[in-house]
Amino acid sequence: MTITQARTVRPTDTTAADLFDYIDAAPSPHHAVAESAVRLTAAGYSWVDETEVWPSLPGKWFVTRRGALVAWQRPDGASAGTPIRIVGAHTDSPNLRLKPRPDVGKAGYKQVAVEVYGGALLNSWLDRDLGLSGRVMFDSGSGPESVLVHIDEPLARVTQLAIHLDREVNDGLRLDKQIHMAPLWGLGNAGDGDVLAFVAERLGRSAADIVSADLMFHDLTPCSVVGADRSMYAAPRIDNLASCHAATLAMASLKPESVAVMALFDHEEVGSTSATGANGAMLGHLLERIELAAGGDRESYLRSLARSWCLSADGAHAVHPNYLDRYEPDHHVALNGGPVLKVNANVRYATEADGIALFRAAAKQAGVPVQQYSHRTNLACGSTIGPLTAAELGLSTIDVGSPQLSMHSARELGGIEDPALLTKAIAAFLTSAS
Ligand SMILES: [Zn+2]
Repeated sequence: MTITQARTVRPTDTTAADLFDYIDAAPSPHHAVAESAVRLTAAGYSWVDETEVWPSLPGKWFVTRRGALVAWQRPDGASAGTPIRIVGAHTDSPNLRLKPRPDVGKAGYKQVAVEVYGGALLNSWLDRDLGLSGRVMFDSGSGPESVLVHIDEPLARVTQLAIHLDREVNDGLRLDKQIHMAPLWGLGNAGDGDVLAFVAERLGRSAADIVSADLMFHDLTPCSVVGADRSMYAAPRIDNLASCHAATLAMASLKPESVAVMALFDHEEVGSTSATGANGAMLGHLLERIELAAGGDRESYLRSLARSWCLSADGAHAVHPNYLDRYEPDHHVALNGGPVLKVNANVRYATEADGIALFRAAAKQAGVPVQQYSHRTNLACGSTIGPLTAAELGLSTIDVGSPQLSMHSARELGGIEDPALLTKAIAAFLTSAS
């Protein structure tokens, strides 16, 4: 008998394969921004410094602000007040983030003090080998210097209690975020500065030069195709790197005449109210500057907004065969069924009938099937950046998502055909402006 040795399987589909590379290279929002910047630069986009005067030239540009990125294409001849097609997504995912003084421990173990970021499924972080990523600020002598950190080594582990010490655990696991989630980092007594000293050593720098850090843990298991028929994939951060990736690829393949913007926000999982989140001024300011740089004014900017559309791309709940009672009948979403229009009468999603018609037309043009999701009425519905950008800018918005299971788990599940379908649908939406 032959035993196949592969522990992970790469996709044959090129879009899914590129998504795997994107996700594995992006354990933090800062890395997602860096990965999108690489793909945009290869497609002819140029980075501009948002603190400087912008070039008034038409072309392809992007700005980065910490864990957020905004890219745009404005072709020659686009007049003042031209409507824009916008795609929005978010770079952040629930995870465990290090506290400012992370070195703790007891009973002969070194541990790391963490804060739970966003609505994490805490159980999914148990008994996984965890790597470390984020950014560190160094004092380089001439001012603060930001350095990205990505360490794919099993450095830490949130270890479960044995079943012999909690016989009722399978009736319902209860995890206290403060008490039960501190990962083990090593054996011995914790020393003040251990974790940052380790990071400095890995970066080849002096720990004494570290001023501050934004660090977080990630599961080390690489993305993999799943299923005997190879129809699914398992990965961390599908919500919402799958949308960031699809939007980036769509922007990279825009038709030259398109007037399009991509906004990758940070902080969606914690409410979006920040300098880099959707519930803030960032996108509005940048859109207005794009219009002003092209020779428009405040009036033409507002006129442009009135005719623009935003596609808010995020995860969507595929139906789970073991929990059918949690889903609205006749609104079951299938993996590999294509992007999902998300509708909620209480505006947890921004989609309305005219937006549905517009997105369906774009998807039809691209030959992409479309599904429709409605949350069960007696369950509290999640939300997205969609209603926030819609409200902040008075911007007509459509909420769509790529189907997935295990949303907010450290390792989620998607359909292997959906990355290509979402990319095609976003590309068709961005290029179908009238
Ligand atoms: Zn999301």
